[in-house]
Amino acid sequence: MPLTHHARVIVLGSGPAGCTAAIYAARANLGPILLRGLQPGGQLTITTDVENYPGFADVIQGPWLMEQMQKQAEHVGTRMVYDYVTKVELAQRPFRLVCDSGDIYLADALIIATGAQARWLDLPSEQKFKGYGVSACATCDGFFFRDKELIVIGGGDSAVESALGLANQKGTTVSLSYRGTEFSRVKERNQAKLEAAVEQKRVQLLLGTEVREVRPQSVILEKADALYELPNDVVIVRIGGEAPYPFLQRMGVRIVRKEIALEPATHEAAAVS
Ligand SMILES: Cc1cc2nc3c(=O)[nH]c(=O)nc-3n(C[C@H](O)[C@H](O)[C@H](O)COP(=O)(O)OP(=O)(O)OC[C@H]3O[C@@H](n4cnc5c(N)ncnc54)[C@H](O)[C@@H]3O)c2cc1C
Repeated sequence: MPLTHHARVIVLGSGPAGCTAAIYAARANLGPILLRGLQPGGQLTITTDVENYPGFADVIQGPWLMEQMQKQAEHVGTRMVYDYVTKVELAQRPFRLVCDSGDIYLADALIIATGAQARWLDLPSEQKFKGYGVSACATCDGFFFRDKELIVIGGGDSAVESALGLANQKGTTVSLSYRGTEFSRVKERNQAKLEAAVEQKRVQLLLGTEVREVRPQSVILEKADALYELPNDVVIVRIGGEAPYPFLQRMGVRIVRKEIALEPATHEAAAVS
């Protein structure tokens, strides 16, 4: 039978933002409940080496880091719940959350830390090598790929900036694969930097190409209906990412330019992500 629970603070999401919020709320004696969602531990659970968190001299593993954050949140008094919120009603107080299990959660305050999801190419081989040569985050993983041949996939600013950033690394060879033929969505200054990098042979442009398969030492690209193999060590997929906008909008949160808009007058929604 579905149960109803009440907490002064409920946190949605168990990634770094949700765990941090829960730790602070618990230490403030607010007795938070954290609803973990479909991806307990969030995005860092799908990566391997993490090197940029202060406090760890050695490389640590993403899933391990998230386990530690969750344990820390529990140790200080957070109640962790494996459930997924399907509906949030913010029009009344306490706020009412309906979960996939049927349970209802009532919250005096709600912290939304539902993060975002990187968009992937959805190739079986890409999924197979995720965290082992396939990454969605050049800033996070680029450092590990010095002296390697890299291919960045995408045609937006994030792909171009990733390619440019990686091309600055000594010994790294960078190709940028884009299925279009013009970088029309890219900021002018990035376009100019890209052109310069191509001219200096720091970035190789592969326009009109699509990745069809990721292999351990190469990728299979398609161009004008023909397949060819490009030797390569690492694939960086930069084709966008998204917060769960429909879910947030359904709960009445206003989204402006892909950001949660906070209403200064009411501060009904507090976004942590
Ligand atoms: C492959 C990869 C490698 C990365 N490597 C690094 C790195 O090395 N260093 C670094 O600093 N960053 C890295 N990042 C980025 C980092 O993972 C994100 O910046 C970080 O996870 C964002 O944290 P978050 O808590 O905001 O959200 P997320 O980690 O996205 O967590 C969102 C949480 O919300 C939950 N959720 C969503 N909807 C609901 C719902 N309806 N009900 C309940 N819960 C819900 C999910 O289950 C999840 O637990 C990497 C990302 C990826 C994808």
